[in-house]
Amino acid sequence: MSGTTGESGEPILPEVLVLGAPHSIMVKWSGKEYNIEDTSCLKTILDLKERIKEMTGVHVDRQKLLNLTYRGKQAADAVLLSSLCLKSGYKIMMMGSLEKDLQNIDIPPEDRPEVKNDFDVLDDEEVEPTESREVYLAKIAQRVREYNLNVLNPSRPDKKLLVLDIDYTIFDNGTPASSGEELMRPGLHEFLTAAYEHYDIAIWSATSMKWIVEKMRVLKVSTNPNYKIAFYLDYLAMITIHTQKYGVIQVKPLAVIWGKIPQYSSKNTIMFDDLRRNFLMNPQSGLRIRPFKDCHINRANDKELSRLGKYLEQIAGMEDFTSLDHKRWEQYLRNLHRHRSRRNKDNSSSHSSSSKSS
Ligand code: MG
Repeated sequence: MSGTTGESGEPILPEVLVLGAPHSIMVKWSGKEYNIEDTSCLKTILDLKERIKEMTGVHVDRQKLLNLTYRGKQAADAVLLSSLCLKSGYKIMMMGSLEKDLQNIDIPPEDRPEVKNDFDVLDDEEVEPTESREVYLAKIAQRVREYNLNVLNPSRPDKKLLVLDIDYTIFDNGTPASSGEELMRPGLHEFLTAAYEHYDIAIWSATSMKWIVEKMRVLKVSTNPNYKIAFYLDYLAMITIHTQKYGVIQVKPLAVIWGKIPQYSSKNTIMFDDLRRNFLMNPQSGLRIRPFKDCHINRANDKELSRLGKYLEQIAGMEDFTSLDHKRWEQYLRNLHRHRSRRNKDNSSSHSSSSKSS
């Protein structure tokens, strides 16, 4: 036989004509073994990966088949399985993460100026990254190694960490105004003063450092005598993630901070941002603040920082934030309020009955 095309006309490697595909393959992943009984219908590595996806749930793009090489390199998706000369029962070692396991990691973006695109992911939307967990961890590790944190004041022992976004979180970035005060979210200085008692405060914005410094100056945050900002992070500390639905997006992975300053972790960090996608790698540590826009209209009624300050104070005594669901912060405040009113009522009624009996 001298043909180099298959029945359907597509080119095939000559090896396929002499080497049959193995009858069965074992895939070892995450401490378990998956046996693929009949491999005769699997033509390429991609077919094999699809089958592995059916069995393990690990997305094709995220599978790394460690000992599957072709001509000295990792076998590409288009390589014919039969060309690898695998023995029946061959054991493939796989690395790769499930979507749900990716939720606790973080990443930063490549060079780029201020992001204007403000789409957000929905409340309970699953955003599926297409790269492997290892890729994100590597990006984070690189930021931890190479990113230069702009430290303004030393971290204080036993303090928790509050990470604040700027645009639309504490500052209306989209409205013309004649002074920083007009653009400032109401109650900002009071909020920061109260938070500072229990929290070190960091600012993280998806823009360049020069704009962060300028905005903090204009808002008079950097010079306020009642609190001190611990450090600033700009867009260079962010990482890119690739997602099925949104393509490439940039996020703020808290693991960059945790890697740089070990006193902070998921147990004592909370992040406020008006875009949920920014804390995609740390959904549990993020709280989506209502965006502050149209400052001239909304300034009079915006109570967000005042209320969130109460929430921060309430949780400040907790050893571990990972049990909290920040999506329910308002409900938590309401319950607390109800509980207090009931207790006050009980106290006053027991007081009046005891004064009657005396
Ligand atoms: Mg923002």
